Amino acid sequence: MGGALHARPVTIVGGGVAGLTAAIALRRRGAQVDVLERAPAITEVGAGLQLSPNALRVMQALGLLPALDAVSLPSRAVVLREAAGAQVVRLDLARHRPGAPFRLIHRARLIEVLEQSAREQGVTIHLDRTVEIPPEAPLLIGADGLHSRIRAALNGREVPFFTGQTAWRAVIADDDDTPEAQVFMGPGRHLVSYPLSGGLRNIVAVLETRDWRDEGWSHPDDPANLRGAFAGFGGPVPGWLARVDAVHVWGLFRHEVASRWQDGRMAILGDAAHPTLPFMAQGACMAIEDAWTLAACLDATPDQPAALARYESLRKPRAARIVAAANDNARNYHLTGPKRLAAHAALRLGGKLAPGAILSRFDWIYDFDPVTEMS
Ligand SMILES: Cc1cc2nc3c(=O)[nH]c(=O)nc-3n(C[C@H](O)[C@H](O)[C@H](O)COP(=O)(O)OP(=O)(O)OC[C@H]3O[C@@H](n4cnc5c(N)ncnc54)[C@H](O)[C@@H]3O)c2cc1C
Repeated sequence: MGGALHARPVTIVGGGVAGLTAAIALRRRGAQVDVLERAPAITEVGAGLQLSPNALRVMQALGLLPALDAVSLPSRAVVLREAAGAQVVRLDLARHRPGAPFRLIHRARLIEVLEQSAREQGVTIHLDRTVEIPPEAPLLIGADGLHSRIRAALNGREVPFFTGQTAWRAVIADDDDTPEAQVFMGPGRHLVSYPLSGGLRNIVAVLETRDWRDEGWSHPDDPANLRGAFAGFGGPVPGWLARVDAVHVWGLFRHEVASRWQDGRMAILGDAAHPTLPFMAQGACMAIEDAWTLAACLDATPDQPAALARYESLRKPRAARIVAAANDNARNYHLTGPKRLAAHAALRLGGKLAPGAILSRFDWIYDFDPVTEMS
């Protein structure tokens, strides 16, 4: 099987993680790929990302692991802590899944690796090209993110709802590169931090609030608001927050997974198909999985409508399950009162008696191999 993509023209709207990974995966199978990106340059204001083994298997198949390893750090553990800093449980990722690492990377470095590979392989990237109405291409891929035009063309107008949570993100200079993610859990708020390569540290802080915030990643805020909201936190948090001099804030909205992913000519992937709350750190990872599966389905048969229908049927249930898991995690981090004490005690005990059991809850996310699934 395979070969159906040879010399086929493909137009991709959006040059983010989903669009560029799809461009590489399609090009490697012989397609003629054009990417239309609205930004005048592929530059990134994003912060850190955690890449889990499910996505890294795709990166390996695309030959991108050495380039990614050079600009990312391994992540060996996730440490859950009380707001004051005391450890609740340490989840040892490296021991639970030896040989299948997690990586911590600045989103800008990931985009650079993808863009360079796409260009080297002969993908044509057209910058400064905002798509308002889906172009009449025979195969059109919508990788145009949260407010996707292609999703709207397939599904009509949809209205997301505000979750009552806002999030700040910041990157600070920090020479502590202990390769683990730390989660500090307080009533109605939590803060996640991990190191990035190049002496940087990523901070994401989430607060339950009634204040409505715009959706989107790029709204600047006063660092004093972040410091105020997390003033009661201890451990290293006050020191980190004291060093924040630029911060962005955004409202967390819940979107349904798109009900229609394709119509035989157009298909969507990444945030265009399934925007997620950030609490499973799977937004970029799902986009990378989608890209591989989409290219493999299209390459397996010249029957484009059948290939796109297969792609949708393979990807939609998994995306919906991950988005639901991220919604649940939002609640778990923010418990208050007796529920919080009970949950933390259970985690502490679980961490002592059966640490693997806590991690095994998400084996279905991290052990998934999109590459062998399609081979
Ligand atoms: C600026 C930014 C920062 C982020 N930071 C984080 C983070 O810190 N942690 C995290 O977990 N996730 C973050 N995310 C989300 C995460 O990166 C996404 O879940 C994941 O990258 C999915 O990528 P995507 O390619 O589907 O969408 P996006 O990354 O949103 O990419 C969509 C691309 O399409 C382009 N585009 C949109 N509309 C049009 C149009 N009409 N015509 C042409 N081009 C268009 C956009 O300019 C963009 O380049 C961030 C996203 C953005 C945009």
